[in-house]
Amino acid sequence: MLNEHYCRAVIFEQARQPQEIRQIELPLLSSGELLIRNEYVTLCRSDINTFTGKRTEKTPTILGHEIVGRIASFGPDTPRTDSAGTSLDIGDRLTWSIFASDPESEHSRRGIPQKGASLFKYGHEQLSESNTLHGGLAEYTILRKNTALFRLKNSVPLPVAALINCSVATVAGSIRLAGELSGKTVLVSGAGMLGLIACAMAREAGASQVLALDIHAERLDSAIKFGATAGFKVTADGESLKDILHRNGQSNPIQIVLEYSGSAEAMESTLTVLDIGGTAVWVGATYPQRSLQIDAEKIVRNLHIIKGLHNYNQDDLAKAVHFISENHDRYPFTEIIYDGFNLETVNEAFDYAINQNPHRVGLRINND
Ligand SMILES: [Zn+2]
Repeated sequence: MLNEHYCRAVIFEQARQPQEIRQIELPLLSSGELLIRNEYVTLCRSDINTFTGKRTEKTPTILGHEIVGRIASFGPDTPRTDSAGTSLDIGDRLTWSIFASDPESEHSRRGIPQKGASLFKYGHEQLSESNTLHGGLAEYTILRKNTALFRLKNSVPLPVAALINCSVATVAGSIRLAGELSGKTVLVSGAGMLGLIACAMAREAGASQVLALDIHAERLDSAIKFGATAGFKVTADGESLKDILHRNGQSNPIQIVLEYSGSAEAMESTLTVLDIGGTAVWVGATYPQRSLQIDAEKIVRNLHIIKGLHNYNQDDLAKAVHFISENHDRYPFTEIIYDGFNLETVNEAFDYAINQNPHRVGLRINND
């Protein structure tokens, strides 16, 4: 039965099994917490991978971590400002970091709070009596103390705003690791959601050329709309990436590789075209797969730098908010998000995401 002390949440129990909506009690907020009335969730690739069993989470859980919502209430002593010092009030729209961790822990102090002590991740936690409403596929989310949060302008469309706290912030982190992009040739491997955002961000950061790589031609068309200067289709016929680039008239040295596909072949092949002194940032490999075969001598002689990134830090989230606020209508974000579902149709939303494989599937919550 519905009443004001309960809300609806979608419970994930087992891979590939239909998810059920259940009533969950709204707990009293503790110090530092915020109650958020969720507005929109986009299904991230890791949600899909958990649903299909490609990666595992402790269950039962509430999936969904690309979320946007409005402040419904403040816990006792919860600061009335966001991470940028902007004042906050009931009804303000927020984006927040997908994790909360101890800011005084060693990793947090070193700028990697996503690996800090007491790590908690929205959309990735087991449900228990005392730990509920931590995923986006519910009417409410409780934000914990030590969650970075930023107030959003109402002018950003909801589906685009939802992308900020996973896809966009992660790409912002990878571009931070890549270093200065101005005047450089950047190769973006994988033209999924992160790859498209990376094309746009790299262009806005002054890259002279942004080359997109994917196995799907239509994704390369999208990459061009997001600022890629050229797209290259990788085929299964064994042609080397170097030959593919040459055959298509691409001879400029590639100084930066941003790898989002997670494919072992893509990580191996993109290293073979990286210029002397170049940097490769690997982001996509967030699931178990075979070990790579890379030529250590080439890495040494070519002075290559390889960096890995998982999630992001608070500065990356701030940059993501700024990027979307400034650029949401300069690139066709809303065209690549399939905006057709809500909590009641959550099972259809996952089916659609798996079978149709759009860049993102979105669910409207509390506002349809
Ligand atoms: Zn995600």
